[in-house]
Amino acid sequence: MEYTIYLFNSLTRKIEKFTPLEDKLVRMYSCGPTVYNFAHIGNMRSFLFADLLQRVLRVVGKYKVRWVMNITNIDDKTIRDSAIGSPAWLPEMGKQTNDPLKNLLKFTEYYRKAFLADIQLLGINLRDFYKMPKATDYIPQMQDLVRRIVEKGFGYIVNGSVYFDVSKWRQHDIYGKLYHIDFDKFKEGSRIDADSYDKDEFSDFALWKARKEGEPYWEFTLNGVNCDGRPGWHLECSVMEREILGLPFDIHTGGVDLKFPHHEDEIAQSKAGYGVEPTVFWCHNEFLLVEGKKMSKSLGNFYTLRDLISKGIDPLDIRYLMFSAHYATQLNFTFDGLNASRKARLRIQNYIYELFQNQNKQGKNPDAKELEKDVFSALANDLQTPKALASIFDFINENPANDLSQDTAQKLIKFFEKFNKIFNVWEISPRKEEEIQIPQEVEELARLRWQAKQKKDFRTADEIREKIKSLGFQVIDTKEGYKIEPLSK
Ligand code: AMP
Ligand code: ZN
Repeated sequence: MEYTIYLFNSLTRKIEKFTPLEDKLVRMYSCGPTVYNFAHIGNMRSFLFADLLQRVLRVVGKYKVRWVMNITNIDDKTIRDSAIGSPAWLPEMGKQTNDPLKNLLKFTEYYRKAFLADIQLLGINLRDFYKMPKATDYIPQMQDLVRRIVEKGFGYIVNGSVYFDVSKWRQHDIYGKLYHIDFDKFKEGSRIDADSYDKDEFSDFALWKARKEGEPYWEFTLNGVNCDGRPGWHLECSVMEREILGLPFDIHTGGVDLKFPHHEDEIAQSKAGYGVEPTVFWCHNEFLLVEGKKMSKSLGNFYTLRDLISKGIDPLDIRYLMFSAHYATQLNFTFDGLNASRKARLRIQNYIYELFQNQNKQGKNPDAKELEKDVFSALANDLQTPKALASIFDFINENPANDLSQDTAQKLIKFFEKFNKIFNVWEISPRKEEEIQIPQEVEELARLRWQAKQKKDFRTADEIREKIKSLGFQVIDTKEGYKIEPLSK
């Protein structure tokens, strides 16, 4: 069955029919982590949303997906925390050197690896990425974009830094079209150096920042002026997406907080420098709150994945929880909610196990195809995961696995197999027997029995066999020797 995918586009603020620019191939770019710390579970929502989207495109839309997620390894925070003497430097990172760039790369590599480990625990498959580019690998291309913007008259140099001239751009094109803010009503703010800034003014933002003592830098001469320094954060994405995916591509994802200034600035830079906007669809996930509040270290409600794992939480319950709310609504993370989501996930898991056990010659035959249609249409329609799950629970409630015919049970297993290619939180296999540990005493007795047998001391061998039996095990002679099994088997 073919499904048409519909997605909410933040640019038009409408749910639109999705068709890729290239037949059957979706090119998608997701703003990735800034690797200066372990990602928190709010960040994880953003990455899991992107994973959900690319999986729905593959499994439901039957598209090939070229998925790119960048690694921001140079920005204000990575520089601050990798600086010589920074308290954020950990012994596991090795020794700091006198070279700020080497320190930056060592520091960010540590958190990049941690990030890869974390997202895999959350059910993201690294093979699904086409590329995860690091910003520092694209510096010459970034310098090229800065040069283009300045040449076109939308950038200017001050003390070796290069800024984007927003007022000039506004005479040429709309600024604020993604954020849906009419900047005519706002005052023009002062020029801004920070990567993140306030939202109630428009300001000229830094494309390129002049070298500062003790910070990493790259050589750069622009219009005869020495501009040695490093890129601004917004510039990174404009460059890497074009280099890897080409412009325009199909979908750009990120959290809602990135609409402004990050994505708005990305649009302005790409259009000013390359003459093309980055993407057709802008898709943003809403925020994750913790116990009703914005996560923050000072409120004590700030959790990384590792914090939760150390509390005994299964990362797959977190993945399920994230998908149990629609990506465009705020999700309030609570431990009660996490518990409920574990129960729900295991309920489906048990149902799958029961389907495998079903050997009924006769039984009910509810329509598995109809269930698949309900679930996949919900997903195709702007990733309505809560609706998809509701259809599954309605079905499970009405159709206990033991009441079904084996034929229908098999069809449902096929459905869950496909659905799990998206959710990726269940085992689609019969329940594993718990491995029975053979006590060391039994192992030793079996060995002695074997020795007795070799010596043709059958009386002792039989006595030991009885002893082993009394411990709940049996020894079975085989061609190669013997094996031990529990008696109940
Ligand atoms: P960063 O590493 O800060 O660049 O953020 C990585 C991603 O996490 C971005 O797409 C952000 O929009 C997203 N993000 C940050 N905080 C939250 C949150 N509390 N809930 C959902 N997404 C978030
Ligand atoms: Zn970005």
